[in-house]
Amino acid sequence: MNREASQKAFEEAQELIPGGVDSPVRAFKSVGGTPIFITEGEGGYLKDIDGNKYVDYVQSWGPLLFGHRDETIEAAVIDAVKHGLSFGAPTLAESELAKLVIDFFDSVEKVRFVSSGTEAVMSAIRLARGFIGRDDIVKFTGCYHGHSDALLVEAGSGAATFGNPSSPGVPADFTKHTLLAEYNNIESVKKCFADSDNIACIIIEPIAGNMGLVPADKEFLHELRELCDANGALLIFDEVMSGFRGSLRGAESITGVTPDLVTLGKVIGGGMPVGAFGGRREIMDKLSPEGPVYQAGTLSGNPVAMAAGHAALTKLKQNGRLIDVLNSRAVRLVEGMQDAAREEGIAMQVDTRGSMFGFFFSDKVVKNFSDAAASDADIFAQFHAGMLDEGFYFACSLYETGFISTATTDMMIEDTIEASKRVFKAIKN
Ligand code: PLP
Repeated sequence: MNREASQKAFEEAQELIPGGVDSPVRAFKSVGGTPIFITEGEGGYLKDIDGNKYVDYVQSWGPLLFGHRDETIEAAVIDAVKHGLSFGAPTLAESELAKLVIDFFDSVEKVRFVSSGTEAVMSAIRLARGFIGRDDIVKFTGCYHGHSDALLVEAGSGAATFGNPSSPGVPADFTKHTLLAEYNNIESVKKCFADSDNIACIIIEPIAGNMGLVPADKEFLHELRELCDANGALLIFDEVMSGFRGSLRGAESITGVTPDLVTLGKVIGGGMPVGAFGGRREIMDKLSPEGPVYQAGTLSGNPVAMAAGHAALTKLKQNGRLIDVLNSRAVRLVEGMQDAAREEGIAMQVDTRGSMFGFFFSDKVVKNFSDAAASDADIFAQFHAGMLDEGFYFACSLYETGFISTATTDMMIEDTIEASKRVFKAIKN
């Protein structure tokens, strides 16, 4: 497959933009090779500037539940654009989208819109601290909650410990209130509460998608809820990725665990930049201007973005079985690839939640970040490169999750499985 134009474009971009990209994972650093430069998306496909076509399992890292250029979302955006791009004043569109979110999530009585998942989480944490009146937060190694200072904390050893910043530029003082615990390990969370009586909240991806796909055990989430209640702390579900993908009505609907606050992003904007956080009325009313916890945004509730999100969530509401249909396709995909790997003697762990799928080249079930990190990165890199050459665009890091959209057909999935057979054979030879 010829990718000369992408190679040239990447060389030029590196002169203009740090690393040639506006978000680090796009640079293909962990798999090697050159990122492809995209000209357009169409349904389940992406096209690059060399004229190659790929089945897209990244879907813009999650937002595109209905694939590229969904007609309804596109029409809603074009209509909104014709009325003006931004007003910085209230619009009906915000209330309409809020009604949908509140309808989907039982735990959400009020919601505020922002422009990214990072903002949503950063604001939810501030609100939790302001509401409870304490400073420490508990986060899990391997969970990603955006790039705000307090949450950019290096994966620790697993034992609960005060976090160290994972990036130069983040003062240690800014992360000293971030306590790390190990995913799916309740003892590590208990240790945080034993070490600190200043914990405002626990934040967790209930379906972790940023160490590959690693869902939390139901029992573990129930225990987190109990620990929060016993210690007067809030529980925040970060569903920026899993919201409207892992299940129709949030992780709370499939686990029976009700969070105090939920953060959303990706699908909620239908491909436009939208994030949101919501929860119980008494907590949300602590937000400015109703309450003292400050939070704001020039483009928050942007009318074009609200229109895209509204069109996406309305489509989802009209077809409540959609997540199950997508899940059966995701299951077929990963099980087909797993069989293909097994044929060549390659151990592969697979899992799905709704339209999310994940896989690790490992002979051990993955429960936390250390398990994920112990999987075979070399085979993953070869798999990624081989599948790209075959015309299948998978996320370019072993710590990412894959996504099926409504435009991912059964035929595409069967073709993917066939291609994976060739790729695994080549890896083995
Ligand atoms: N939280 C989770 C669970 C995410 O997966 C992400 C991004 O992938 C974020 C927060 C940050 O969202 P954004 O990239 O929109 O700032």
